[in-house]
Amino acid sequence: MDADCQQKIKLISQWIKENKKVVIFTGAGVSTESGIPDFRSPGGIWDRFDPNEFLFDKFLASEKTREKYWKFHTEIYYTILKAEPNSAHTACVELDRMGKLDCVITQNIDNLHQKAGLSNDKVIELHGNALRVICLSCGKEYDRRVIQDRIENGEAVPKCDYCQGLLKPATIAFGQPMPLKETREAEIRSRNAEVFIAIGSSLVVQPAAYMPVYAKQGGAKLAIINLSSTPYDMMADILIKGKAGVIMKSIIDFIKE
Ligand code: NAD
Repeated sequence: MDADCQQKIKLISQWIKENKKVVIFTGAGVSTESGIPDFRSPGGIWDRFDPNEFLFDKFLASEKTREKYWKFHTEIYYTILKAEPNSAHTACVELDRMGKLDCVITQNIDNLHQKAGLSNDKVIELHGNALRVICLSCGKEYDRRVIQDRIENGEAVPKCDYCQGLLKPATIAFGQPMPLKETREAEIRSRNAEVFIAIGSSLVVQPAAYMPVYAKQGGAKLAIINLSSTPYDMMADILIKGKAGVIMKSIIDFIKE
């Protein structure tokens, strides 16, 4: 790590020491060090699957799409089950223990923030959670394992036990409406943040990607930590091109110094 990066890390640690309401915003890049590929990096999920196949409208309209969607999500489910949280997830837990963490707002569906030790009320999931399944008709929620067992026993497209409605992983597909409560809550928390750190997100999926803008509008100090450029880099007070786990661990080390 060069001196410039160390200086930036030190400055972020200083912000955290001097403030209380830290909001961490995470994207798929926070979990690549745990072995879950992101969407847009080379070798990422969209190099192997065509996102146009999985539009929400197509899921509603076609049994064939639903079958493909469940196959695609079965692969994701097992990747997620195997994954363990990395230093970036652990850093969020440490911030919470220090009494600094207002919340984590995540676009991830992998449950790794909770697996690292954050309670559900500290994590706002903008795009849902792949460990749950929901009925699109009556809203009944299922544990993913229960539905996965049914799929493995030959039910290619599972239906709701209660109303025979369509079941879908409780995640947000392209073209599917965002969860209102979580989106509203994330906007409020972003506007009220004192320090806002966006980690491992390409910041291109809206409305999630607008959270750093709300934070800046509310007067927060903004840091962006990502391997590649984002459309909001110009807005950041501190920009670090680096690995989420490595950088977040260093930030915690500096705070503890
Ligand atoms: P994205 O794939 O668009 O962007 C990920 C970004 O992270 C890229 O800009 C990449 O350069 C960066 N990155 C990769 N590894 C990194 C690392 N170790 N450290 C720092 N940066 C790293 O993902 P996104 O912005 O989250 O948005 C796309 C959608 O992807 C979201 O809706 C999310 O639900 C979904 N997604 C989630 C998971 C997951 O739950 N783990 C995995 C894949 C996709």
